[in-house]
Amino acid sequence: MLEIQGLSILDMVSKYGAPLYIYDSSKMESNYKQFVNAFDVPSLKVHYACKALSNISILKLFKSFGAGLDCVSSQEIRLGLLAGFDPKDILFTPNNISEAEYDFAVKLGVNITIDNFEMLEYFGSTYPGIPVCIRINPHMMAGGNRKISVGHIGSKFGISIHQLPLIERIVNSFKMNVKGIHVHTGSDILDSEIFIRAAQLILSVVDKFETVDFIDFGSGFKVAYKENDLSTDINEFGKEFSEMFNKYCVARDKQYDLHFEPGKYMVSDAGYFLVKSNVVKQTTATTFVGVDSGMNHLIRPMFYDAYHEIKNISNPDGKKKIYSVVGYICESDTFGVDRQLTEVRKDDILCFSNAGAYCYSMSSNYNSRYRPAEVLIHDGKDYLIREREKFEDLTRNQPSIEI
Ligand SMILES: *Cc1c(COP(=O)(O)O)cnc(C)c1O
Repeated sequence: MLEIQGLSILDMVSKYGAPLYIYDSSKMESNYKQFVNAFDVPSLKVHYACKALSNISILKLFKSFGAGLDCVSSQEIRLGLLAGFDPKDILFTPNNISEAEYDFAVKLGVNITIDNFEMLEYFGSTYPGIPVCIRINPHMMAGGNRKISVGHIGSKFGISIHQLPLIERIVNSFKMNVKGIHVHTGSDILDSEIFIRAAQLILSVVDKFETVDFIDFGSGFKVAYKENDLSTDINEFGKEFSEMFNKYCVARDKQYDLHFEPGKYMVSDAGYFLVKSNVVKQTTATTFVGVDSGMNHLIRPMFYDAYHEIKNISNPDGKKKIYSVVGYICESDTFGVDRQLTEVRKDDILCFSNAGAYCYSMSSNYNSRYRPAEVLIHDGKDYLIREREKFEDLTRNQPSIEI
């Protein structure tokens, strides 16, 4: 993997410097198309969950594919509007936010999802006519295995499916316009059958509200981070899910819109993170590669124990050796332990795979470091879509006081 759309990654690093995020628009487009084509339903709407990667140029790209946008903060909504999305194509699916933030979203005209009773009552009394979507937690455990459970009892998200009578009471007494039912549990969709069973539970909620015209099944699509990783077979899932969904619509004699909100699936494998080796350090037990980055730029390995494949693209044909790849932050920030890399020398460029989702968007200024630049490769050309930060970015919000 040394080129993206015919452009050399090493040339990009020479041009823009390291550390650097690079994104491949063609990969995003093929992910989007593959996703959409997997389903066979009359009306499908895919809202890209932009918290995965929220650069405005990336949002524009998804708009050009025909996607809508799923936002979890009013700031993400504003980025979406800047990127040109119509408010009606934006879903607002936040968790535990204030009334003021909901008020702001209502003014912007986006689609509102509610995930607790307090807000349901607030909306009922303040905005009775405004269409809303209600987020349900199905609390379904399958086989007692946390890995395949869809929505667990301790989750903070959504309104429990067991509280359906209370939802109905509030909705009916305020005469609320419930346009959608939503479920996103964040669980991995590996076994279509289990997810479909949870979906059927959700459909029993839909039956309670005549006004509903869309059903949003969130996301949970899993991608492979390394060889032999389990990932969602989107074609199989799409086929089985569509059959179930179409049957449901036929039985109700009503054509519901089917919504999904994938983030990771759309962008994960379209991103690369490039870092430079500053130091190769042999200790008694380990050979470390110390790179010019750390948990401030890519926190998933430290935060989630996530695995990101790492390659030495400066020496692709070198001898394989075992390294631990670590960052420059002054606490343990290990990217990978005991990795087989082709021999790493000082100043070599290492490339992290699957750096599109939840990498830049989770980056920080920890240790008062600058966040990296972002480059998009689109139609065979490279575009700087975010500048590397500078010292002024660290100081701009700090009024100087006399002490
Ligand atoms: C995070 C999130 C998603 C996207 O999840 P992925 O695993 O990235 O696909 C979708 N919907 C909601 C409400 C979310 O919070």
